[in-house]
Amino acid sequence: MKRSYLIKPLLDEQLPEIAFGRGIFLYGADGKDYLDGSSGAITCSIGHGIKEITDAMNEQAKKVSFVYRSHFTSKAAEGLADKLAELLPGDLNWSFFVNSGSEAAETAMKMAIQYWQEKGRPSKTAVLSRWRSYHGITMGALSLSGYPERRVRFTDHLASNPDVSAPYCFRCPFQQSYPSCNLMCADDLERSIKRMGEENIAAFIAEPIVGAAGACLTPPPGYYERIRDICDRYDVLFIADEVMTGMGRTGKVLAIEHWDCLPDIVVLGKGLGAGYSPIAAAVASDKVMKPIQEGSRVIMSGHTYSGNPQSAAAALAVLKYMDKHSLAEQAARQGQQLREQLNGMQQSFPFIGEVRGIGLLIGIELLNNHDDMAPFPKQLKAGAKLVELAFRNRLILYPASAGEEGGDGDAVIIAPPLTITSQETADL
Ligand code: PLP
Repeated sequence: MKRSYLIKPLLDEQLPEIAFGRGIFLYGADGKDYLDGSSGAITCSIGHGIKEITDAMNEQAKKVSFVYRSHFTSKAAEGLADKLAELLPGDLNWSFFVNSGSEAAETAMKMAIQYWQEKGRPSKTAVLSRWRSYHGITMGALSLSGYPERRVRFTDHLASNPDVSAPYCFRCPFQQSYPSCNLMCADDLERSIKRMGEENIAAFIAEPIVGAAGACLTPPPGYYERIRDICDRYDVLFIADEVMTGMGRTGKVLAIEHWDCLPDIVVLGKGLGAGYSPIAAAVASDKVMKPIQEGSRVIMSGHTYSGNPQSAAAALAVLKYMDKHSLAEQAARQGQQLREQLNGMQQSFPFIGEVRGIGLLIGIELLNNHDDMAPFPKQLKAGAKLVELAFRNRLILYPASAGEEGGDGDAVIIAPPLTITSQETADL
């Protein structure tokens, strides 16, 4: 059969066609139902087919779907920016809308570089990042990403190399354990800053909980407080990439709120549009915006569809729905229940190495052998096989990378919509 739709197949045969979605379920054209245990790519946070959202999108489409941001503003984009300023902690008040997490990560990089230019320190251009991280697929965002499998074909074209160790307690890169380690992994940022020279560094970017590149690596208490302190001491901005972790997924609006740490710029995506429309954002604090407002007065970036009313209306309706149904709180409750269930399964399924994460962002690292912590041999692609087996049984999981050497297949992420009920969690 001729196929012109380019897509990475999950299975060897043609992918099933989806007819419609309702709540946490997707329904195939062949009548099969699938439990969306990963919200797609950790995206559909409020579930499928919510009428309030499609009504809001319809209303907007009847008025106008697109205006160019240099010509006009819109109630939808203004309303979304105001809602984010209300929801996000501290003085994260300034939203720049784009279409994907990758674009948002690159916008955040540019904001940070521009901040230092406006402050009269133009040599501060480098953005530090960690091994075991993912910030996006475009060349700039991929440069920041410590995800070997996604970098390897493109290394000649990548502008930077992640240099900071990840907070990976299950396989501590320093062979230490918490708390006697005294957060060596956080201090590794200081080593990296000194190595490159603080005069060259604009920012440090990190996912508060490492998603695809580490299957929900969750730093210990005190980690981000230490990161904040190091950033402040060396005049380095801190960018929290909350594309996967943000918008209620971990039980708080931002995952970074689980630590006493306020980022200078936040990167949002995925759950912001919750799958209803592509939208992402780089949100800057008053501190970052002040010199820009007093200087060139423009963020030197943007895309044709930036801030389009159609996506903004969808995202605004999503945020209102989350508020109305207290979905962050629900994520905290259901996440706790699901983690307890999964921990209880460890006896019967010894390949479950560690269950980690916060709220409804749960990673499972697979182990071949608990005694020596050996992962399954890479060529077995154990994680991918588990995802495929679940898919054949109509449960959708998300493959992730873990283990010392990295490599897709040693971990999976479970992240159902935040709307999942206690009964549905029990049935999962
Ligand atoms: N940042 C993080 C933390 C992500 O998890 C992702 C995607 O998985 C991205 C950025 C890139 O987002 P997108 O795929 O929308 O470009």
